[in-house]
Amino acid sequence: MFIDSHCHLDFFDDAERREIIQRAVVSGVSKYVIPAVARENWLPVAKLAETSDCYATYGLHPLFLEKHQKDDIQALDDFLNTYPAVAIGECGLDYHVDTDKNQQQYYFEEQIALAQTHQLPLIIHARSALEQVLQTLKRYQNITFVVHSFSGSNQQLQKLLDLGGYVGIGGSVTYERAQRLRQQVADIPSYRYLLETDAPDQPIAGYQGQKNEPARIRDIAEVVAYLRGETLSQVARESTENAKRFFKIH
Ligand code: ZN
Repeated sequence: MFIDSHCHLDFFDDAERREIIQRAVVSGVSKYVIPAVARENWLPVAKLAETSDCYATYGLHPLFLEKHQKDDIQALDDFLNTYPAVAIGECGLDYHVDTDKNQQQYYFEEQIALAQTHQLPLIIHARSALEQVLQTLKRYQNITFVVHSFSGSNQQLQKLLDLGGYVGIGGSVTYERAQRLRQQVADIPSYRYLLETDAPDQPIAGYQGQKNEPARIRDIAEVVAYLRGETLSQVARESTENAKRFFKIH
């Protein structure tokens, strides 16, 4: 049994989503965490989370910076008081795109503060900005977080683990050229990683150009098991226990 700790099921239409979930169930995926990326996505994601196998998280993603307004922070606070959430996010920093870094930082830190207030973990996006993300997180106490689709140096991985963070492992691990990541995945403590697809993004090796989907969690888990020298069922058990602990779900 697997949990997809990060899939944007709201990016699919109803018919597509039904098919995707059928295939995911066949692959042994039983739960889905859906991170909403902007204010307009919160309500659709809340609707999806009304089914028992879906869990919602709400945030303001740095790639959608132009959509965000300052009062979205207050709106997010209010929304979290009204709708059940298992985390805040997707939030974070993306320096791969050329947008205002100060604005990105503002929304990121406001969401860290909300995570403290609402006692929720954070789902963090860090692209070409992991160092700044870790520097920022270091200044806050009592936060739990995952860096989704982790990509960084060994030193950054160690810093992340020292801060108590979780590592999100997704499709990039299936590419043989991702040697540094594959070595890191072999060494991460068994209680500190989550499996994710980031569907419809980040297709796995062999499926480039196609939409990614939660059924691929099994393929990712097979690679993780191979790299860690574990069985598939061990990886299923570890990653599911980790996701349940992280999101406080049963
Ligand atoms: Zn995402």
